[in-house]
Amino acid sequence: MTGSVTNWAGNIVYAADELHRPRSLDELRALIAARAKVRILGSGHSFNEIAEPGPGGVLISLSALPGEVDVDTAARTVRVGGGVRYAELARVVHGHGLALHNMASLPHISVAGSVATGTHGSGVANGSLASAVREVELLTADGSAVRIGRADPRFDGSVTALGALGAVTALTLGLEPAFRVEQHVFTELPLEGLDFEAVAAAAYSVSLFTDWRAPGFRQVWLKRRTDRAPVDFPWARPATEALHPVPGMPAVHCTRQSGVPGPWHERLPHFRADFMPSSGAELQSEYLLPRPYAREALAALDALRATVAPVLQTCEVRTVAADAQWLSPAYGRDSVALHFTWTDDTAAVLPVVRRVEEALGALEARPHWGKVFTMDPGTLRDRYPRLGDFAALAAGLDPAGKFRNAFVGAVLGAA
Ligand SMILES: Cc1cc2nc3c(=O)[nH]c(=O)nc-3n(C[C@H](O)[C@H](O)[C@H](O)COP(=O)(O)OP(=O)(O)OC[C@H]3O[C@@H](n4cnc5c(N)ncnc54)[C@H](O)[C@@H]3O)c2cc1C
Repeated sequence: MTGSVTNWAGNIVYAADELHRPRSLDELRALIAARAKVRILGSGHSFNEIAEPGPGGVLISLSALPGEVDVDTAARTVRVGGGVRYAELARVVHGHGLALHNMASLPHISVAGSVATGTHGSGVANGSLASAVREVELLTADGSAVRIGRADPRFDGSVTALGALGAVTALTLGLEPAFRVEQHVFTELPLEGLDFEAVAAAAYSVSLFTDWRAPGFRQVWLKRRTDRAPVDFPWARPATEALHPVPGMPAVHCTRQSGVPGPWHERLPHFRADFMPSSGAELQSEYLLPRPYAREALAALDALRATVAPVLQTCEVRTVAADAQWLSPAYGRDSVALHFTWTDDTAAVLPVVRRVEEALGALEARPHWGKVFTMDPGTLRDRYPRLGDFAALAAGLDPAGKFRNAFVGAVLGAA
């Protein structure tokens, strides 16, 4: 297949010469073997050049491979194909009475693409989506199939791997018994006097939203598990109607609120799986910082309100538990995640992204790999102590750099 391909937001037009959708692993293996430069495209929900193979390269989507979702109820695991999206996975897993520990805001994103970039939901005790992975199956540059399980010393470099090690053809994820969740929305949480630790721990998953047009948070979304005792939330008022995180947008596409209990996969995402977003008039950025810096980081953003607000649709604050993936933005540290949904005006947004990065600079911010950031490679390398180990792993599995694009090259640099 030939022709221009864009990401979901439309801000990236891939320079790849071709987009292929192989129907079998043999077809995929043959394609990889025949090409010098390859990148795998997931569902295309990243906002930067991370999936870009560059001129002369080939982009391969795994969406036409058989969408395997094989649940092992005794082992409480699921083996999921490299092109499957969370919405499909969640339905099957729930049908077996089991659950994933967490989900991102949108269920339409691919599992392999999400864990490759360190995608996460929220919850002080909830690791990123990659933390559920037990085994990775790769098709590497020379066409060999490689399985890397948790006992393998390469494992901690192999899940949040930016697509640099090969094509992920399957992932095995750990599951837990299915649970139910109530989603409660509160409004007007002041920043002054905020006890961030108490607020963030007030439910299984907590998100704070603000447009920074005024101090404090316009909304707080609490996702409470019904099998755990509810914690009081005295700091804000219960919402009187269903709300969208972007002020003024209709809540019809949002997952059910008002405390109505429902299955985990219909409450943990913010957006409903049966609503199919085509392309989004938005850009996103996100930074993960050590959680103890949350108050200081929020004060720094509050001081930038006049700069940020004009190009912001909404800002979401979440928490992510530490994980062990070398390239995870939450590697080794319980984190606060500061997310920005910007307008789609790249020229106006980029200078503001730079200002936000300067404001968070002293707080050891690590950018989300799938979103817009301007941090220079030297700074990135300072923030990832295991980058050298990752570079060695990538060189071992892909010595000629078939899967290494400009984005990955800049990250690895001289590591
Ligand atoms: C509306 C929206 C909501 C979002 N919400 C959240 C959120 O709640 N939390 C959060 O953390 N992020 C969120 N994101 C960001 C998103 O989760 C990431 O960008 C994620 O990487 C998207 O997955 P994808 O399959 O679309 O990846 P793509 O953009 O397609 O690819 C990302 C990377 O993964 C690699 N890759 C994909 N599939 C494979 C494979 N099979 N084998 C090898 N490499 C592969 C690609 O080469 C690329 O390097 C959101 C994005 C959007 C647009």
